[in-house]
Amino acid sequence: MSDVSFRVEIWTTVRLFTTLDRMATPQTSNDVRWPVATGTGPVYDDPCAPPRVTTSTGSRPDGSRSPAGQPVTPGSPAPQPVTPGSPAPQPVTPGSPAPQPVTPGEALDRLLAGNRRFREGAPARGHHVHAARAHAAAQYPHALVVTCFDSRVIPEALFDADFGDMVVVRTGGHVLDRAALASVDLAVDAVGVPLVLVLGHSACAAVAYAIDGTDTGNGGGYLVEEIGTAVRATPPGPDRPERVMRAHVARTAGTLRRQPGVAAAVAAGRLAVVGARYDLDAGQVDLLH
Ligand SMILES: [Zn+2]
Repeated sequence: MSDVSFRVEIWTTVRLFTTLDRMATPQTSNDVRWPVATGTGPVYDDPCAPPRVTTSTGSRPDGSRSPAGQPVTPGSPAPQPVTPGSPAPQPVTPGSPAPQPVTPGEALDRLLAGNRRFREGAPARGHHVHAARAHAAAQYPHALVVTCFDSRVIPEALFDADFGDMVVVRTGGHVLDRAALASVDLAVDAVGVPLVLVLGHSACAAVAYAIDGTDTGNGGGYLVEEIGTAVRATPPGPDRPERVMRAHVARTAGTLRRQPGVAAAVAAGRLAVVGARYDLDAGQVDLLH
């Protein structure tokens, strides 16, 4: 396990495996959480840094435009800095006991409550460096989110999650490959997350790309092949991208449920695999049944 290396873009996943590489003795118990040596973690982005410059047109990858349509220019005002006197969250003492195990239902409630705070414009997580430090000693994530790499789908933001709350696997159209499946196995077996949430979203460019590639036969590649299964199972008609996305979420969740480690954890009642949809405009997450 220590030789595993990945090129997954998301820092949470990179952090997960970096942590594994640092472990002198791999943990095998499902109940064992991962202590992380303080001061040896990855370098985090500066939360006070100005936003990155987007395209000059404000276009979305799927060709649509944001409601405002205004590009972010180099001259845009920087976000307000964090007040130096802001109260820091209480640090987690390295020797403090691990929190009580979270059931799949409780984990889902936490996610949906976080999305409600986000939606209502009242997030409780500031992603301040103090919070990063407070959670540096150990992590107790209560969910694994498998979702798209879309720049507008940020799980930690839309679930108002803190450092250490969730692990995330993101690929185009949340298509699974060996690395993604191995990451899910790791999160379930070693980290012991009680919930896997497969999160599709509205206006998914990867889904649109797969529909076009499948229908015309001109597109190729792994994403089109994988999402193409849902495309072929979804007849043409109104809202086809939405229906394809939902079918693809269901297929992805089904694939994960058949993973041996996932199936065993589900059978034991300590894990649930749930499909959901994120609406870009409303900021709302709805469960798909
Ligand atoms: Zn997408």
